[in-house]
Amino acid sequence: MNTMMQSETKNAVSAMLDATLDEMEQLPQRRQLKSTADALAFILAGKAIFTLKSKATGTRYTYRVSRAKDKQDLFFVSVLSGPDNTSDYNYIGVISNRVFRLTQKSSMNRTSKPIIAIDFAVRHLAAGNLPEQLEIWHEGRCGLCGRKLTVPESIERGIGPECASK
Ligand SMILES: [Zn+2]
Repeated sequence: MNTMMQSETKNAVSAMLDATLDEMEQLPQRRQLKSTADALAFILAGKAIFTLKSKATGTRYTYRVSRAKDKQDLFFVSVLSGPDNTSDYNYIGVISNRVFRLTQKSSMNRTSKPIIAIDFAVRHLAAGNLPEQLEIWHEGRCGLCGRKLTVPESIERGIGPECASK
């Protein structure tokens, strides 16, 4: 290989590496919903699981929002309340006409923090505004075992806590 070819190969390889690094840096942004339109579309997609996190306190709640089978604009909202992020959800209310509300079967009330958080998020998103102090993350999957990831740090890393400690 002559020197010119060597330097061309080197350039091609370094260009490829740069592109890969750029893509890797963008990955967390893809998991975090950064516009009101994206966030609303995701939340009301029909079978959404997402996490709201307060930048100020670090407090976070994970929700599941499922569209009612026979209605276009009725969504059942549940909040994750156990260790299994595929099944440990408690029903807390509905979203309809871009408004969250409690129903008789809600397992929490107006003063419960997960209720305050989802109500705050939906109200602001419906008004076209993504609050500075709010992060919205859609679920990821563990690159090792394929399980759902709902903790922002795990989503960012792409590997769940159990697999990361192996
Ligand atoms: Zn895993």
